[in-house]
Amino acid sequence: MFDDRVLRLARWIAERYVIPLSMAIGATHPPRVASEEGRAAGQAEDPPWVEAPAVLDGYEGGPELLTACRGGAGSFALRPLPDEEGAACLEAVAACVGGGRDAIVVVPEGQPLPATAGLVARSFGPAALRYVGGEPRERYRAWLDALAGRYRVVVGTRSAVFAQVPRLGLVWIHREVHPGHREERAPRHHVRDVALARARLEDAVCVLAGLAPSAETAAMAEDGELPVVMAPRARERAAAPLVETARSDREDRSPRLGRLLREASGAFLLMSRHGYGVARVCRQCGEPARCGQCAGAVVIREGRAACAVCGSEARCPVCGSTRFGVERGGTERLQEWAGRVARAPVSRVESAEDALVPGTGRVVVGTAAAVKDFGPVRVPLVAILDPDRARRRPGLSAADQALATWMEAAVWAGPRGGGGRVLVHTAEPGDPAIQALVRWDPRHLHRSERARRAGAGFPPGHPVFRVAGSPDLPDALAALRPVHLLTSSLGSETVSLVTLRPGAVAGFRERVLEWVRDGIVTRVEAEPQV
Ligand SMILES: [Zn+2]
Ligand SMILES: [Zn+2]
Repeated sequence: MFDDRVLRLARWIAERYVIPLSMAIGATHPPRVASEEGRAAGQAEDPPWVEAPAVLDGYEGGPELLTACRGGAGSFALRPLPDEEGAACLEAVAACVGGGRDAIVVVPEGQPLPATAGLVARSFGPAALRYVGGEPRERYRAWLDALAGRYRVVVGTRSAVFAQVPRLGLVWIHREVHPGHREERAPRHHVRDVALARARLEDAVCVLAGLAPSAETAAMAEDGELPVVMAPRARERAAAPLVETARSDREDRSPRLGRLLREASGAFLLMSRHGYGVARVCRQCGEPARCGQCAGAVVIREGRAACAVCGSEARCPVCGSTRFGVERGGTERLQEWAGRVARAPVSRVESAEDALVPGTGRVVVGTAAAVKDFGPVRVPLVAILDPDRARRRPGLSAADQALATWMEAAVWAGPRGGGGRVLVHTAEPGDPAIQALVRWDPRHLHRSERARRAGAGFPPGHPVFRVAGSPDLPDALAALRPVHLLTSSLGSETVSLVTLRPGAVAGFRERVLEWVRDGIVTRVEAEPQV
């Protein structure tokens, strides 16, 4: 079920994520459904003739990317013009298939299928496999068919990065900054890292695409390891939306927002906070409101007070009351208010599956989950109501993921001069993330982000491990001269968070295995959520 190519990739995964080789091989395959193995694979499908769009020739670095897709190798960061990723992706896939090789397009979520992936899948018809969702039997059947060479193109969510097409030529990662590209179960691999490694091992091309890159991709680009393919700056500026900032008053509203919303025939309102509000204080005893189970924050959703962390029914841990003083604000409260102000009916999107295409005639209220690749979409007003809260959320990637979401939503307003507008509420218009959005240039954020993360001990692109073991552990790790080492004790166990230089991962697994034998290490986990 696997050949040398897969074995090489599995070895890389085992070393990078410090896991047994057998587990790495398991990660590259779907769960086995033995009864499918006796059946003949479906007939190989000849690719249809695809009329490829021509956008990449007009991009800086575009001709080099196309040449690589036709028969070469290499990794690229792609910053498409608004509305052009679908065309650029189809053009690259067509070049790859035209050159006699096979292509994989990986998307961060399958429901609804991003327009970029839908365009490629439709264009290649029966020669394209949609590896999205489905029952284990169906998925295993599809995987066996791909292994047998039935398809020339595979479009799918993160496990598609392992699809065993016979002659890999291209792996395209759509919205590479999206959190959906990170596997939540061990070995916690990231699609971006696997795709880069796989392209290197199989002499193929890897494209990391997105309006705003991840901090990791931006750092590789800055260091010259990853050529950036993008439209000339003047074209990019002209295609960018008009973004204005305003200060918000209570509940993330502003007079400017009210005026624009009253006049707009349609709008998309982005807010990072769900629900109707946050409980601040117990009405009965006056103690600060918090979850009695886990001390998490208490939020009001659908008329019910519940813990934002564990979901349990909120009850004051001191007096047992369920009545709280609430600071109002969130998607539900916004929907209520917008319904009184806007001319068009207001809908609220709470989950990715229910996402609504914004447009005239409707106002859509939603969180980042509502921001999807719908293909070219136009709405007169896009308002980003609490970006200062979004970029400060916990987690190293909060700011770069927030910026990408804002840019993806902002393009729905159309290019400047087209009448659409983007309103951004902020108390800090000079913040690098806000400036990156206003000037339509993610580098404003990434320069400061790189310094900030290095200062915190987690520079972008540097592997992080959580290691548990004996009190000798910190000294053993310090001998590796790590970039960063944080140690704490939990009972009798010592736990260290260690950041390594990218080149130091080779050999780290061997050392860890020695330490396991010596009783210094009991457990190691790569890329914990930091
Ligand atoms: Zn109370
Ligand atoms: Zn709780």
